[in-house]
Amino acid sequence: MGEVDNNNSRALNFIENIIEEDVRQNKYEKPLHFRFPPEPNGYLHIGHAKSICLNFGLAEKYKGLCNLRFDDTNPTKEESHYVESIKKDIEWLGFKWYDKPYFASDYFEQLYKWAVKLIKEGKAYVDEQSQEEISQQRGVPTRPGIESPYRNRPVEENLNLFEKMKNGEVPDGSMILRAKIDMNSPNMHMRDPIMYRVLHATHHRTGDKWSIYPMYDFAHGQSDYIEGITHSLCTLEFEIHRPLYDWFLDQIAEGQRPRQIEFARLNLSYTVMSKRKLLELVEKNLVSGWDDPRMPTVSGLRRRGYTPESIKNFADRIGIAKRDNVIDFGLLEFSVREHLNIIAPRVFGVLNPVKLVLTNYPEDKTEELTLINNPEDPDAGERKIPFGRELYIERDDFMEDPPRKFFRLAPGREVRLKGAYIIKCEKVEKDPQGNITTIYCTYDPETKSGEGINRKVKATIHWVPLKQAVNAEVRLYDRLFLDEDPAGHKDKDFKEFINPDSLKIIKNCKLEPSLITAVPEEKFQFQRLGYFCVDKDSKPGQLIFNRTVPLRDGWSKKGR
Ligand code: ATP
Ligand code: MG
Repeated sequence: MGEVDNNNSRALNFIENIIEEDVRQNKYEKPLHFRFPPEPNGYLHIGHAKSICLNFGLAEKYKGLCNLRFDDTNPTKEESHYVESIKKDIEWLGFKWYDKPYFASDYFEQLYKWAVKLIKEGKAYVDEQSQEEISQQRGVPTRPGIESPYRNRPVEENLNLFEKMKNGEVPDGSMILRAKIDMNSPNMHMRDPIMYRVLHATHHRTGDKWSIYPMYDFAHGQSDYIEGITHSLCTLEFEIHRPLYDWFLDQIAEGQRPRQIEFARLNLSYTVMSKRKLLELVEKNLVSGWDDPRMPTVSGLRRRGYTPESIKNFADRIGIAKRDNVIDFGLLEFSVREHLNIIAPRVFGVLNPVKLVLTNYPEDKTEELTLINNPEDPDAGERKIPFGRELYIERDDFMEDPPRKFFRLAPGREVRLKGAYIIKCEKVEKDPQGNITTIYCTYDPETKSGEGINRKVKATIHWVPLKQAVNAEVRLYDRLFLDEDPAGHKDKDFKEFINPDSLKIIKNCKLEPSLITAVPEEKFQFQRLGYFCVDKDSKPGQLIFNRTVPLRDGWSKKGR
């Protein structure tokens, strides 16, 4: 049993337990120092958000610091617009990095010097074999590898060749620098791993200065060391790299070394999280971009209507584990529903409108009805909605020939219009094709909401005044994939599981007039329909709303 954290009354996770023990032993003379180290080769996703909440969250909790460091060792896949998107997403989540953003490329000179030092000490060598030869010689974990014929070349020769690599005098792929460790190690990462490769590529920050680039494994641990990181938190797949990181640090480190701790990455059902796959969705136009509201990216969730709080609550709720697991997508939706329930004002919107006329309501009369904005938030106040003879209601809320369990409007039936009156359906009018064009009702003036008689009726429905209604486009989303683990099939590509109905666009929805001034990212509950967020492309006169989530989880019941 761990100790209990008094701040939010949950048990400490295993990383917090380690940290508190380190603190008790006075291991550190300076503040604890964490980092979030993205590779700028894509947009951040909800998995990254978990790592951000962990690292920045620990820095906040233990009054430490957290660096943002871009691990930009691969010039061919990295672009500066990814750097900008990552900074923007972290700021939106509400975290502040220490000092300024750091870059592994700032350490290229230092890493190079360390490589030269290793060569001089006979601990690194230039290999001129082909990639296939090298990987064949590596062998398998149960059998020793074969040493490269170049393994024991003299230091001087290694220095000369490495210099040539650095000066761009040899073609890509013709030589690599390898660490001379142990070709018999059961850990494959220790079998003379690659430290540097030749790449005549332009780097987003260092331009054409370098023709050699360090491998991630030769840069990551040292970057943490250079920055004075005390706790270097990685996902589980790096556990097996740890002996190599230690070996590199053994060769160069003098002072305090980062302590690496591995935790389980976030896996979410019904989605993919690899940046390569997300990029494929973007490049093949299967989504509208990295911030498509169906994407599990931070920018996609933001556009969909998620709040930073809901994402942080989700991260807190799933916790930090040592073993891999899969989190149900519904839990993410639960977290946003929970927060929006508190902050989102309630409004009326009709997605599939049908005209309703109150035949006994005076033609020239309009009333201002007062409705409370949010029953969950006493400070949210009230608003006025005009009410008149002509209204829109949801087409689905009427049935001419209702089945037994349908309690809403039907010929001869009464329902309450939310916040207004009880009405009774008298007759309907249809077009030549048989579609209902107008529903005629009478209203009971004695039943005004909150003032008049509250007769029992079986249903309350929402409505919008016809004359003052505001037009909008509404986008309804469903999960992007129909399979729980789209990337988990050996014989099938993940794209085969894309949900063809994941986006439904509805034009000419009718909204209550208060929404005319809604601006991008504003959030509402359309009563009975779900939580909605104004899209970034929405403009006055051309409103666009994204449904974040329906009011209830439709998936657990449908059991598709
Ligand atoms: P990919 O393999 O898709 O390229 P990555 O893990 O290599 O993703 P990075 O940019 O290297 O992406 O990740 C930055 C940080 O975020 C790393 O510390 C990594 O461990 C963490 N991270 C990435 N994905 C997840 C996840 N699903 N859950 C938790 N942490 C994650
Ligand atoms: Mg990575």
